[in-house]
Amino acid sequence: MQELSHFIDGAHTAGTSGRFADVFNPATGEVQAKVPLASRAEVDAAVARAAEAQPAWGATNPQRRARVLMEFVRLLNRDMDKLAEALSREHGKTIPDAKGDVQRGLEVVEFCIGAPHLLKGEFTDSAGPGIDMYSMRQPLGVVAGITPFNFPAMIPMWKMAPALACGNAFILKPSERDPSVPLMLAELLKEAGLPDGVLQVVNGDKEAVDAILENETVQAVGFVGSTPIAQYIYAKGCENGKRVQCFGGAKNHMIVMPDADMDQAADALVGAGYGAAGERCMAISVAVPVGDETADRLIEKLVPRIEKLKVGPYTAGNDVDYGPVVTAAAKANILRLVESGVEQGAELVVDGRDFSLQGYEDGFFVGPHLFDRVTKDMDIYKTEIFGPVLSTVRAKSYEEALGLAMDHEYGNGTAIFTRDGDTARDFASRINIGMVGVNVPIPVPLAYHTFGGWKKSGFGDLNQHGPDAFRFYTRTKTVTARWPSGLKEGGEFHFKQMD
Ligand code: NAD
Repeated sequence: MQELSHFIDGAHTAGTSGRFADVFNPATGEVQAKVPLASRAEVDAAVARAAEAQPAWGATNPQRRARVLMEFVRLLNRDMDKLAEALSREHGKTIPDAKGDVQRGLEVVEFCIGAPHLLKGEFTDSAGPGIDMYSMRQPLGVVAGITPFNFPAMIPMWKMAPALACGNAFILKPSERDPSVPLMLAELLKEAGLPDGVLQVVNGDKEAVDAILENETVQAVGFVGSTPIAQYIYAKGCENGKRVQCFGGAKNHMIVMPDADMDQAADALVGAGYGAAGERCMAISVAVPVGDETADRLIEKLVPRIEKLKVGPYTAGNDVDYGPVVTAAAKANILRLVESGVEQGAELVVDGRDFSLQGYEDGFFVGPHLFDRVTKDMDIYKTEIFGPVLSTVRAKSYEEALGLAMDHEYGNGTAIFTRDGDTARDFASRINIGMVGVNVPIPVPLAYHTFGGWKKSGFGDLNQHGPDAFRFYTRTKTVTARWPSGLKEGGEFHFKQMD
């Protein structure tokens, strides 16, 4: 049995708490490693060492810091296959999907190579007679990121790359379910030239998270995960005076208008609903066809596509559409919700409940499910299922469809499929959701834009990556400077106006 470690001060470091969590291979159901769960004392020691390392890193000029990230990008590309394999082995997603996970993180690292430009302050020449005014962006010090299981490469990179580019030291607390890739990222950053102690990976659970939230040295916390934990971390982090941004769960609706290209809409729904076994915060989990005729045509197109989906282990190669879900508990929860949907009167059009994969009976595979005639009061509509289950809610009109998405408590992503520009424009303008796709089912913004949901999908006022990340991981200092010879003649004692 492999025993994983933390990554402290540039080296793999064994856990000392005596507490461990099992890391599964979701395809076989076997425990493949044990990950140490850090105690408060281990977290505090990691933070203290990071605080020692940060001033020199913060004083390194931004271009040199960017060069470390440049080399990191090269190493990520060099090790892409190795990273993807380790990721799939612990998470269960297919190899092409695992490569996508690394790639979308890597693109944020590439964006952060622009740090010298992004960190430039503002300057006003002659704000007053002989007075210049300028602002600078300075690192916060030691900052932390707490990340979920579903993107074990991408989301740690979304957090660490901008934090490091800005000159901070970074404490990463990755998901305890798939911790190997975050540890590999730390090794690569060391190889790329990051000084020891500037990035510390501390594995753990609630005890480690609470230790981060209560450590006075930690200045900011970025979180991604489920909404109840996001709310907890936001409240506790703010209470302790930290800068906090938390991104939570989702229930993403896709509106299908009668004029949509129905083949295109069905293809999009299958990819966005079942890809990565539905374990994406930007997965589409609710289809909203407008009008009964649209609904009938859509279901007719969806069913054969869903029945053809190939579910299997990542080792089966490129033929597999999606793999197992992450744990036996996740599988049980998904199947429990499917049962509730049947009991509460939804029509189970594609029933994956009896799905079993020969040779992988102990793996956490879940067959694809499609529900029709789902209503707002059902648990499958209200809850984030995070599995390969697509619900169809039939709307009578565009306004009803829009209202459904608007009224849902989550507001991460949404999409509309239509050929009508006016409808699409109205939707994008009125919807109260952070990321909107027009004939694009998973509208994840690219690295140089920002990513973030509204309502119960996001807490805090700045988004992830893009220019917002450079605001989140720095604070602004504004200097008013004057060098007049007149000062030699004596000071001024009234509040001067810039006239
Ligand atoms: P999770 O909330 O269970 O765990 C996220 C992190 O919080 C992990 O590091 C975990 O160790 C820690 N944690 C768990 N329980 C805790 C507790 N009681 N106290 C303190 N810390 C705790 O989420 P998950 O299951 O790993 O990830 C799936 C969720 O993440 C889904 O809800 C998904 O929608 C969401 N997600 C959101 C986004 C986004 O950008 N909005 C992106 C990816 C995933």
